[in-house]
Amino acid sequence: MTDLLLRNVRPMGGTATDLLVRGGRIAAGPAPAGTPVEDGRGLLLLPAFVEGHTHLDKTTFHLPDWLVNEVGPRIEDKIDTEREWRARTGHDAGVASLAMARAFLAAGTTRVRSHVDVDTSGGTRHIEGVLATREAMRGLQEIQLVAFPQSGILGRQGTDTLLDAALSMGADIVGGLDPCAIERDPVRHLDIVFGLAEKHGKPVDIHLHEPGTMGAFSLDLILERTRALGMEGRVVVSHAFCLGDIPERDRDGLLARMAALGVAIATTAPASRPVPLVAACRAAVVTIFGGNDGIRDTWTPYGSPDMLERAMLIGLRNNFRRDDEVAIAFDCVSAAGAKGCGFEDYGLEPGARADLVLVDARSLAEAVVTRPPRRLVVSGGRIVARDGALLA
Ligand SMILES: [Zn+2]
Repeated sequence: MTDLLLRNVRPMGGTATDLLVRGGRIAAGPAPAGTPVEDGRGLLLLPAFVEGHTHLDKTTFHLPDWLVNEVGPRIEDKIDTEREWRARTGHDAGVASLAMARAFLAAGTTRVRSHVDVDTSGGTRHIEGVLATREAMRGLQEIQLVAFPQSGILGRQGTDTLLDAALSMGADIVGGLDPCAIERDPVRHLDIVFGLAEKHGKPVDIHLHEPGTMGAFSLDLILERTRALGMEGRVVVSHAFCLGDIPERDRDGLLARMAALGVAIATTAPASRPVPLVAACRAAVVTIFGGNDGIRDTWTPYGSPDMLERAMLIGLRNNFRRDDEVAIAFDCVSAAGAKGCGFEDYGLEPGARADLVLVDARSLAEAVVTRPPRRLVVSGGRIVARDGALLA
């Protein structure tokens, strides 16, 4: 069923109206006779959400036991702990990612960018698992895979070959990781990352946790590569924490270059670190969008497949109080996410893919603040979930 008439819904909290779906897309004009009707009961209508940065393959969300986290403080501790835990437990990235993807769909997310680990311990096993999940979710949820060198590339011989294989197998995007702090050789790291992007004709999304001037240096190198290789509009920098702790003048200089090159930022807006501020990025016309990062994995007990929660956390971290500011936090998990990740046909306008969510809230800001249950989730014009539960 990809034709549907949603009666009495309030798009983005506005005036009540009917919304017509034809052939899985939002349509204009009167509904043809026989179109299936769903009573929207005056609920708030939102475009389905976009998760712009997560790790579907890492989660322990689906396991019966709570994972007791005893990880050390450094990023290297987290990387090593995860690799050891996987070897010990035989973690199945296919099962984990499918459980997580389904939970995202039930909570109203129809587009997901997932970084997926590629390393010399697991090879491309996680890529295979998430590719199977993408296949299982086809038509219901669009999943992008980033081939992500979680353990670095340079310190583990053969990782570059595995990344190459992952991209040949169907990964969409080339990942990278802290060219200075982890790799200790930014030029060589970026040679490999951008070399693979050129070879496969695929975009880049680099994890950049590095703080301050070190992060700014790596970012400068990334921007220079983007320009030199003509990769405008095809590069995302995830986290970019450095933009939260360098002087404003330096930050604004980098943001201006990012805007000119169409380089976007993925943010989780963590409470624990300086972050790129959403207002500063938007003022510079840099696309900034939201994601959880890992959800209940060996890195963190936090996170949720509810993107309204991520919007709230982005709002809190950015001191957004006014309704029009909370709407910007929502934009980070909706339209800006679609733009930054390159998900097409997004939104509530005629012609867009009919990916929709109905919630009981008086306004968009109230939906973000209270995160009400998803009364209805529609994907490609099909009703896929009611009251938070997926239909068969
Ligand atoms: Zn990440």
